[in-house]
Amino acid sequence: MKLTHLNESEIQQYSFDMMDCDQYVIEHMNTCDYCKKKAADYLMISKGIKEMPEPTFDFDIEELVLEGLHTSSRSKERNYLPYSLIALGIGIATASLYFFIDNLAALFIFDNPFMVFLIVGIAIFISIPIGLDMVISFNKKLKIMDYL
Ligand SMILES: [Zn+2]
Repeated sequence: MKLTHLNESEIQQYSFDMMDCDQYVIEHMNTCDYCKKKAADYLMISKGIKEMPEPTFDFDIEELVLEGLHTSSRSKERNYLPYSLIALGIGIATASLYFFIDNLAALFIFDNPFMVFLIVGIAIFISIPIGLDMVISFNKKLKIMDYL
């Protein structure tokens, strides 16, 4: 038999699930008034919680939640900037192809340092905003995940 009193979890297990208790717990409970009183307290608290009336609200919680959902989706503004930038890029590329189709072959001859500079410059010019946007949106998503 255990000389000290049972811990809370042993007393709770005895109170709510006596069949799965260890033998020493049952033996202790049969001899110790202190632990028996604590088990009775647990049962009384449990009974009290079960007898508590369901909380009732004087407002329709479903309506409030749905209203909140509609408000948040309405207030969320669509960001058209990426789409307009994509459209602008496609427009410029199409216009460039249309006007400079005859000189297109010359673009791929890299003996002209200016052309190399132009192509590499444009590539970097495009890559920097895309990279920044990726980093910013990644950080935003991580922040959102912190709240979940
Ligand atoms: Zn005890």
